[in-house]
Amino acid sequence: MLNIHLVPCLRDNYAYLVHEPQSNAVAIVDPSDAAPIFAALKQHKLTLTHIFNTHHHWDHTGGNLDLKKETGAKITGPKLDADRIPGIDIGVAEGDTVELGRAHAQILDIPAHTKHHIAFWFGDDNAVFTGDTMFAMGCGRLFEGTPAQMWKSLNKLAALPGETRVYCGHEYTLSNGKFAVTVEPNNAGLRKRVAEVERLRADNKPTIPSTIAQERETNPFLRAASRDLRTTLGMLDASDVDVFAETRKRKDSF
Ligand code: ZN
Ligand code: FE
Repeated sequence: MLNIHLVPCLRDNYAYLVHEPQSNAVAIVDPSDAAPIFAALKQHKLTLTHIFNTHHHWDHTGGNLDLKKETGAKITGPKLDADRIPGIDIGVAEGDTVELGRAHAQILDIPAHTKHHIAFWFGDDNAVFTGDTMFAMGCGRLFEGTPAQMWKSLNKLAALPGETRVYCGHEYTLSNGKFAVTVEPNNAGLRKRVAEVERLRADNKPTIPSTIAQERETNPFLRAASRDLRTTLGMLDASDVDVFAETRKRKDSF
């Protein structure tokens, strides 16, 4: 079983140390910056062997080169974005499997935030690293893709087993939750979760990981079928993609 440690970086990023104890393989997912990763490795007495990047943005790859130089860790990232991933060794895409000691992740292509964004899904360990595609109660901005692409990417993640833990790239949960209740005011499960998240953040505690089951119930960007959401938007008969696109648009100016 994997041990997963959150490593807060920059203002609100999370990198994740993923330790496979049988072989002592250790990956860092989306290192924003090398310094907090070196500190976390020291704290947990681990030696880095792998770097996994979900997408090319600097707040997910900024630590790549310093970490690689110091540890020799191999960098795995989206193949089709290889020229934008600093120091990349292994390019991967959907259908590929990435080994971490005795654990293995399947790669899912989840474009739209960036053109070639990937997820690392450790199915046997019930964990998925979603970068800036799916956040807790939220989703990434559409920098390099369309609403239809993002809707498809999010639904690919939502189709994973409900108990899958979701490790996303940022601590945006509270503001996502505050937005979610404005568009789905009658979702009781959502209100309960937002109250929980408010308590955690008041104590400065992380809200990550959530689970796919929780996201299906409370993430407005997965809930285009919700009558409550559609009523708020005045889009009872619109397509799911159009409802998603309008929800995303409203969040952009929330
Ligand atoms: Zn990003
Ligand atoms: Fe980011």
